Amino acid sequence: MDHLPVFLQLRARPAVVVGGGQVAARKIDLLLRSGARVTVIAPELLEELRKPAAEGLFRYIPASFDDSHLDEAELAVAATDLREVNLAVSEAARRRRIPVNVVDDPQLSTFIFPAIIDRSPIVVAVSSGGQAPVLTRRLREQLEALLPARLGNLARFMGERRKAVQIALRRAARRPFWERIVAGLTTSRVLAGDEPGARQAFDRELYTSQLTDSAATGGSGLGEVYLIGAGPGDPDLLTLRALQLLQQVDIVLYDRLVPDAVLDRARRDAHRIFVGKETGEQSVQERINELLVRYAQQGLRVARLKGGDPFVFGRGGEEIEVLTAHSIPYVVVPGITAALGAASAASIPLTHRNLSQSVTFVTGHVLDDETLDWRHLAGPNRTVVFYMGVGHLPQIVAKLRGAGAPGTHPVAIIERATLPEQRVLRGTLETIAGLAHSASVAPPALLIVGEVTAFASADSLIETASGALLPRTDGAIA
Ligand code: SAH
Repeated sequence: MDHLPVFLQLRARPAVVVGGGQVAARKIDLLLRSGARVTVIAPELLEELRKPAAEGLFRYIPASFDDSHLDEAELAVAATDLREVNLAVSEAARRRRIPVNVVDDPQLSTFIFPAIIDRSPIVVAVSSGGQAPVLTRRLREQLEALLPARLGNLARFMGERRKAVQIALRRAARRPFWERIVAGLTTSRVLAGDEPGARQAFDRELYTSQLTDSAATGGSGLGEVYLIGAGPGDPDLLTLRALQLLQQVDIVLYDRLVPDAVLDRARRDAHRIFVGKETGEQSVQERINELLVRYAQQGLRVARLKGGDPFVFGRGGEEIEVLTAHSIPYVVVPGITAALGAASAASIPLTHRNLSQSVTFVTGHVLDDETLDWRHLAGPNRTVVFYMGVGHLPQIVAKLRGAGAPGTHPVAIIERATLPEQRVLRGTLETIAGLAHSASVAPPALLIVGEVTAFASADSLIETASGALLPRTDGAIA
């Protein structure tokens, strides 16, 4: 982090803006909105600023900047287009050790203005540290669209009732109570603009919570477990439900397939526990089961965050068996399984009207499993995705060829799909083991077998040296 995001309390505090043009006007407006006592220093003032100056919304000093203008200031903004003036403001402010922003000049600034989404008292600030203002603005637009217009009303509604809830409920009961409020009828009523309805829903919820709370024996209640699919790696591929639950949990148990970027989406003060081994040795799985049960029995909300989908080669079934045996409530949240993430990231349609009418997900782990029907897997017009297969690539190829697949059968390997280091390798049953060996392919990677793997590369995409796929520009797209 290049800058620490903080929210300054500026109510009635003196702030100085140097400059009287368009850019200064925006900063003056922001500072006034946050309640600062603003003084503007500029030889001349933009037309639109004259009226508020005359009305006394801020103090205007018609002068060129000199050091003494900062004598009383607690914050300074330089918004002129003269570099020497901006520099003088920056230096004067630094000497006085007050925060200074020089518009569009992070070098001369000790703080920067973020892009703001204002749903006061909820305020969202977005910044790229001055590196990509257009991107920041874009994000701001997206967040504006995402955040309900009455979010501020909701925050105020809750704020007005904090005291009452503190009196009515024990400490341990408060957070679950507020979570029910946020997820329930009260919130949807406030956001729909129906405050009377919201008040009613709130009072009912508080009353019920008081009853159940006083009926409790004082020990904490039973916790919950969320088996959450973390998707193939790109955090943007988490489901909304996964995000919502991750924001509520006390504990996160995660394994190797879950990257930091996904973990970062969990509640900041949730306790994170690494529970090792991608393929899950027996002892590792036992430890996970034990932890799930132990924490839930302590009344905590536990996220079991699993790569991909919990029910696709994820041992989710075993975990819910254990939870059921201990009567621990759980929620399963699906995730995008690696095959789906990899297929879209590599532009491989898993089914295709002409090329493939079925998809099979197979683990490459149990090669000698008699139940695997290799003749079926080796057939035409189908797609087969091998999970955990890259370590046994030559054996898988041999099995498929032994079962009748031709050496020219197209295949692809997608390594670290959807992650920044993703690599895509395309070949045939004949060539793929050699290609994978010289490229030093390592887990996690998937092997996709079938005509569809040749589809994108042949018809519409060019693969760059780094493995990225780019659309052809020579009009080859049919
Ligand atoms: N539950 C997971 C699979 C766990 S098994 C899911 O639904 O995706 C682990 C195997 O998944 C790895 O060996 C690899 O074959 C595959 N895998 C998981 N993440 C992957 C990724 N980002 N790219 C390629 N393969 C991945």
